[in-house]
Amino acid sequence: MVSLFDLPLRDDLKGLTPYGAPQIAARVALNVNENTHAIPEDVAYAIVTALAESVMTANRYPDREFTDLRVALADYLGTGLGPEQIWAANGSNEVLQHALQAFGGAGRTALGFEPSYSMYSILARSTGTTWISGERDEDFRLSADTAVRQVAEHAPDLVFLCAPNNPTGTPLAIDTIAEIYDATSGIVVVDEAYFEFTPAGTASATTLLPGRERLIVSRTMSKAFAFAGARLGYLAADPAVVDALRLVRLPYHLSTFTQAAATAALRHAQELLAVVGDITAQRDRIQTELPDLGYPTVPSAANFVLFGGVRDPAATFEDLRATGILVRDVGIPHHLRVTAGTHAETSEFLSAMSEISPR
Ligand SMILES: *Cc1c(COP(=O)(O)O)cnc(C)c1O
Repeated sequence: MVSLFDLPLRDDLKGLTPYGAPQIAARVALNVNENTHAIPEDVAYAIVTALAESVMTANRYPDREFTDLRVALADYLGTGLGPEQIWAANGSNEVLQHALQAFGGAGRTALGFEPSYSMYSILARSTGTTWISGERDEDFRLSADTAVRQVAEHAPDLVFLCAPNNPTGTPLAIDTIAEIYDATSGIVVVDEAYFEFTPAGTASATTLLPGRERLIVSRTMSKAFAFAGARLGYLAADPAVVDALRLVRLPYHLSTFTQAAATAALRHAQELLAVVGDITAQRDRIQTELPDLGYPTVPSAANFVLFGGVRDPAATFEDLRATGILVRDVGIPHHLRVTAGTHAETSEFLSAMSEISPR
């Protein structure tokens, strides 16, 4: 039998395993930070209607510039952004890949502050970019001093900031982002995948865009918008950055169906985002109740909570799984991460945590 390692595989891919959380059927799936609320039926019908119309034109290639979708995304972001400042792809993972393809590559470096989103280093490697694993402060916070010191030390071509940070939930102050930007001559990517879950009044890094042509702010419809299955991520940046990304995208990378579905969903943004308050209430409930069970939590501004006090994360993961609940072992010693689900799902998780024997 032939294995992939018997093939003339790229040297830098030898020995690797594909990234991804285990896809296990579970009653209560709180492992990949999805919005666990279903799409409202009237919104689903509106999306289906748009899709049905788009099928009639699927004999032609889609609009390569996904113009309607970019207008809708610019409108959603507001803050004076125009469609020429918007880029989108099949999930923000692909958006980030485009950024690395355009601004990273062989002989270049990208710096991130770990623990953070694992895809940054994986995308760096697959684009031939050297990954530099930077460190955070105590309790997973990231101060301007700590970040600026490492930016000065490594002079990276790209800096990845995750605000709030996955898997810790830690917010990142907008002033810190501005200071990091000033400390580098490279591209600064701010991943705001969880922005909609941050406290009211939190400033988006999109407000920093005027005058900062090396800044990229990425977003996704996978989390707050409950649209993970549709695969639509996007970014806001200077129009020149968008021009750079056009050099590396595949022609027609966003299908007719993706464009139609995402544009229709954005017309119903308010309805889709109506559950965000319920989700953040469950996040806050987890942060209140888990410590009472002996599991201290890391303060989160996202739709998930990283908690400690777990003697054996793999064993607790299995204990929960046995009761039909899926959480995420992110590889941080004595910690697990749980997504804030519906009230009922969160109750199940909390009661399971109180019942399983301490590990
Ligand atoms: C979930 C997540 C994304 C979203 O990825 P998509 O490809 O848009 O589904 C991006 N960044 C972070 C930090 C995430 O946790």
